[in-house]
Amino acid sequence: MLFSDLQLSADVLRAVADAGYAQPTPIQEQAIPYILMGRDILGCAQTGTGKTASFALPMIDIMSQARAKARMPRALIIEPTRELAAQVAEAFDLYGKYHKLNKGLLIGGESMGDQLKVLDRGVDVLIATPGRLLDVFDRGKLLLNDVRTLVIDEADRMLDMGFIPDVERIVSLVNRTRQTLFFSATMPPMIRRLADAFLNNPKEIII
Ligand code: AMP
Repeated sequence: MLFSDLQLSADVLRAVADAGYAQPTPIQEQAIPYILMGRDILGCAQTGTGKTASFALPMIDIMSQARAKARMPRALIIEPTRELAAQVAEAFDLYGKYHKLNKGLLIGGESMGDQLKVLDRGVDVLIATPGRLLDVFDRGKLLLNDVRTLVIDEADRMLDMGFIPDVERIVSLVNRTRQTLFFSATMPPMIRRLADAFLNNPKEIII
């Protein structure tokens, strides 16, 4: 299969070609069509499989089709660590280079003031670790009412790190009409239960 078979926009295809990717990976092949259709995803895939592009590419197209109004985040991506969050932010820069999407990063260990300034300017996609996101939310600096796409990435690592109560709270703050993309390298019973609670008729993809 080719990237051009996946119904992605010409601008996203151009960015993918610039990145030097010849062909979609299996998770990209399987997830991208369903994400573009608006389906929820339960993806069992490790880092290194091309998982980030499997959600970032269709999300960039979905966001660029709808017009931004209030400049509140329309997509929210939760990552267990700062490093992963920073990598995902870089991926959005790379794949979104032909789109005018604003991106914000809320992670611990960095100046809160700078991160809040970016939020004030308005962001389309927000990438965050759970603790810092809730900290900012509880200070009244963030509204999640416009979030249409929610990504819970590396759910099993969130579990290992004790973040599940935070993740549950974050999910409860996002409108139920959202599209939810849930990824985990492993699917122990606790993760399955969470997926059942967060997802609506998901397409399951096992890599
Ligand atoms: P990830 O699993 O998202 O952490 O991606 C792992 C690595 O694969 C990253 O360095 C990506 O740049 C790269 N990558 C993602 N998709 C493709 C692709 N279709 N072809 C070649 N490399 C890719």
